[in-house]
Formats: sequence, C-alpha cells, structure tokens
Amino acid sequence: MRPYELPDLPYDHGALEPHYSARVLELHHGKHHAAYVKGLNTTIERLDAARAAGDLSSIVGLEKTLAFNLSGHVLHTIFWQNLSPDGGGRPEGELAAAIDDGFGSFDAFRAQLSEAANTVQGSGWGALSWEPLGQRLFVEQIYDHQGNVGQSGVLLLVVDAWEHAYYLQYENRRAEYVDAIWNVVDWEDVARRFDRARELVLVEQPR
Ligand code: MN
Repeated sequence: MRPYELPDLPYDHGALEPHYSARVLELHHGKHHAAYVKGLNTTIERLDAARAAGDLSSIVGLEKTLAFNLSGHVLHTIFWQNLSPDGGGRPEGELAAAIDDGFGSFDAFRAQLSEAANTVQGSGWGALSWEPLGQRLFVEQIYDHQGNVGQSGVLLLVVDAWEHAYYLQYENRRAEYVDAIWNVVDWEDVARRFDRARELVLVEQPR
C-alpha cells in the first residue's frame, strides 16, 4: 500500500497574515505536520516488520505511536482546509441552525470552543465534532492528538492549541491566537464536512 503523504497547503504561506504568520505556517506545515506523516509511515513499517518476524512484543508502544501520528496527520490536514484567507464571519444555513440548536447561539459556541482550546493542559486541540449516534454537535477538548474524545466524533472544525502552533508569533498569548484563528475560519469547508458527516450511519436503528 502507498505511504501517507504530506498534502500541499491550499494557499501560500503568507495567505493567512496577519492572523497567522508565514514563518509559523511554513514551520508548522513543513516541519511539524511533516514529522507526523513520517512518524506514521515509520510506525506502519515497524508494525509490518513485527508481523513478518512473528514478534509482536512491541505492540503496545507501536499502537500508541500509530494513534498519535495518524491523528496528528488527520488533524493538521483538516486544520489547513478549515482555514482560508477569505474566511471569518459566521456559518450560514443548516450548519448555523445546528449550532444554534446545539449551543444556544453562535457566540456561545464560539466561547465554548475557544475555551476548550485555551485551557488544554499540555498539548492538544479544540474541536467541533458531529456525533452520529445522537445526531448532535459537540465541542471536544483533545489531548495530544487522540486523547479525551468520544469514539464517534466526526471532526468538522479543529483548532491547534499546541505551543508550536502559535508561540513564535503570539508567545504565551494563546487566547490572542485563538481569537485570530476565528478571522480565517472557512465556514464553507466546515459546512461541507457537516453535510457529509450527517450521511454517516454509525448504528442501524432497530425497527
Ligand atoms: Mn500542530
């Protein structure tokens, strides 16, 4: 099977300035995201080698490393697509209505997702997810790349709260960075994810 690949950014490094600096984006995509892709492929190779050797004694560490790198690759891939130089503002249509239903208002949703990103202890993410079993939206607070989340959430909008995401530009002012990200959220991308997520059937309902 083909190895995973680092996707190109959908815009130039400077496209999100001044909200997100070209240098931070260049490092974040070209070094950090790239490292997760490399780590993912290396872990898959090590799992292949372990099976081939008939020695699965390293399985605990490899499965944890697989989850970390796979989730890091997925989260960053979605994060880049969630952002756009033409972003900002508010969602419209069915997504806007679902946010109002789920959180009371857009402002209440924004406050909850911002707080989730701002208060992650150590490294993590804030996320808006669609939960297909209960057919509802949740804000989730992700630890590292894969911890503290329900198993069913389909990621719609993610905010990287790792220090590498903002420190070079915003230093210790994480909340200022998170506020700036709202200015470049591509709501059309989030709405497309919402439309696709709602077609996912997790469990057939008994008749
Ligand atoms: Mn990151």
